[in-house]
Amino acid sequence: MDGQTPATLTGIAIAGRVGAWDLTHQGGRITALRPSSGQVDPLRPAVGQGRGLITPLMADIHTHLDKTFTIQRMPRRAESLFDAIEMMADDATRWTGDDIRARALLALTRAWHHGTALMRSHVDWHGAEAPLAWPILCELAQEWRGRIGLQLASLTPLDVLPQIGPAIAARLRADGGILGAFVYRNDDLPAKVAAVFDLAEKYGLNLDFHVDEGLEAQAQGFDAIVAQAEARGMGTRVLCGHCCSLSVREPDQVARLLERAARAGVGLTVLPGANSYLQDASTGRTPRLRGLAPLQEAAQAGMAVMIGSDNVRDGFYPYGDYDLTDVFRLAVVAGHLPPEGWLDAVTTRPAVWMGGSTEIREGGPASFIRHDAADLAELVSRPGAARQIWRDGHVLPQTGDLG
Ligand SMILES: [Zn+2]
Repeated sequence: MDGQTPATLTGIAIAGRVGAWDLTHQGGRITALRPSSGQVDPLRPAVGQGRGLITPLMADIHTHLDKTFTIQRMPRRAESLFDAIEMMADDATRWTGDDIRARALLALTRAWHHGTALMRSHVDWHGAEAPLAWPILCELAQEWRGRIGLQLASLTPLDVLPQIGPAIAARLRADGGILGAFVYRNDDLPAKVAAVFDLAEKYGLNLDFHVDEGLEAQAQGFDAIVAQAEARGMGTRVLCGHCCSLSVREPDQVARLLERAARAGVGLTVLPGANSYLQDASTGRTPRLRGLAPLQEAAQAGMAVMIGSDNVRDGFYPYGDYDLTDVFRLAVVAGHLPPEGWLDAVTTRPAVWMGGSTEIREGGPASFIRHDAADLAELVSRPGAARQIWRDGHVLPQTGDLG
């Protein structure tokens, strides 16, 4: 297959579409996508010339490339979010440029092999000067253009943003970054959130918050963010990650809040890995609460809901491999999600929020994932199912061969 001659995958299933399809590609583009005369055979999904399940490439909108792959250096398993923050801060005092670069490079390589096309990484930023990791990750973003579209967002404690925010915002504007803040039960919270929105308006930045990552009903940073987004009409530029406390707040109050957020256009990112691991955690005791934001209710209200990796093998979460198919599996089970309605949350929707597209369509790039499964339920059921990563009409050699 030279890529210039038309070739057709026959009898394939395509996530989100009914029946079997024939996909023809040539020169790296999908030139035809037609209903197939054959059937998808659930018992032999990926044999022969075609078959298998095609899904869009993945878009991971919430990661932490500066912290990743440090788990072997952690002194203990974290008992809570704040315990993890402390361990991670101690480790960060020993980071070098080479260390950060090697770990982030491994993360991008893994994500690439798992079929990720777009990624956003938060980067801890605690002073007016850019942190050591920032220019290194900016460089990697350049190097990886065309493979993974990497966006970077600052992550700064809300309390210090009013002082150092202007310096951060100026650098973000120069580098094309996104402004972020860690918001959790801060004093004078609404005024500080308003100051973050002032910066976003003044410097023309999009916002991505870590907000209410805990199980105290008094954690209501989300309310302040929604109110600012409403007042300024800039909700579609505002993403809220975590919002765990919504899971323990009064349901009617939450329902009204989600409706307002939806009307304002505010997006929600749910992080099932770190939340399930850290929320209600304690050594020798089984967690009773899992901290997942009410993602089904948010979607029903009309919010754009996305699912991300968050931390991978660091003090916050000792597992993961930048494999969003795996994260999707976890979310489907933990959130009791019908898989057919939720694949968009790890593929096309976050892609659009990152300014790209991973949609499978005639005329679009022949870039997608072909799984050895008949449908999404089987994909969720078979973590070991083989997959091919297709980029511009070619299968990545490292990802095996489905035949
Ligand atoms: Zn995070």
